[in-house]
Amino acid sequence: MEKKIEQLLGQERRICITGHVHPDGDCVGSCLGLRSYLLTLDPALTVDVFLEPSPASFSILAGFEKIRMYQEEDGDYDLCFVLDAGERGRLGANASCLEHAGRIICIDHHRTQRAFVEEQIVRPEASATCELLFDMMDEEKISLETAECLYLGIAHDTGVFRHSNVTRHTMEAAGALIGKGVRHSKIVNDTFFAKSYLQNQLLGRALVESIVFCEGQCIVSMVSLKTMDFYRAAHEDLEGIVDQLRLTRGVEVAIFISETEFQVYKVSLRSNEKVDVSRVAEYFGGGGHLRAAGCTMTGTFYDVVNNLSEQIAPQLGM
Ligand code: 5GP
Ligand code: MN
Repeated sequence: MEKKIEQLLGQERRICITGHVHPDGDCVGSCLGLRSYLLTLDPALTVDVFLEPSPASFSILAGFEKIRMYQEEDGDYDLCFVLDAGERGRLGANASCLEHAGRIICIDHHRTQRAFVEEQIVRPEASATCELLFDMMDEEKISLETAECLYLGIAHDTGVFRHSNVTRHTMEAAGALIGKGVRHSKIVNDTFFAKSYLQNQLLGRALVESIVFCEGQCIVSMVSLKTMDFYRAAHEDLEGIVDQLRLTRGVEVAIFISETEFQVYKVSLRSNEKVDVSRVAEYFGGGGHLRAAGCTMTGTFYDVVNNLSEQIAPQLGM
């Protein structure tokens, strides 16, 4: 049994919550879900959420408009929750709020967790940080607003209940949240499946330009800085491309590479059944889960693919 949020709390009145850079559904869902739950426990608490700008579609969640970056003027907090982040480096500029917190608690589900605070609750078997948070909440006190945040996070980190990280417990948690009345169909359609015209154009381009290697077991595609500039695209416009690549028949590993600075790349890795991509990402200084991981790499596109291929091939028995 997980320790309940209520048991974790002491006399803290000023609480802040932060999560990883390029916030995804689980990150935003867990931060806003915990905020909403804490305010249900005690509406007089101060609960601030510090995250980088995240996809506008998440504005369906209560409290989204209050999310901001931490600034020195925000001052000190009695307690800071760090959610869905396996290491300090993943917090980007918001890491500075840790210096202003009396106590820090990290709640996460990454298998590549590198302990960076004293109090850590890490469950790699949880499909999402939102699933773990659900276990830490008293079901009776989960409001509809809290439930929608948690449902969105679980839906996103499981690829809408398709990935191998889904367990009976994941479905039971999702079922309980549906029982609270969440707009489950709207949440997955508006925030997961819906794409802007620009997103579809970038997806199409990435698919057309993809290359297979390792005898068809790996697929890779890249979007360069030049292309990003041409389309005036942002990082969030690339969401979902790697998942589409992964669906290519016969493919075990899908790699999507986006250039963030000249010859600096954000690498997203996904696998289907065999390859532990968290090991590959960790080798290059990143991390993640068994079937979904990421890292940052440098050099030419060909250097990056060669280096990745050297780490992946042995896991494919090549
Ligand atoms: P994505 O490919 O969607 O950005 O990330 C997939 C998973 O890998 C997520 O759980 C994400 O938190 C993790 N991840 C992505 N990039 C990095 C990274 O650079 N470092 C670490 N530690 N984890 C990452
Ligand atoms: Mn997550």
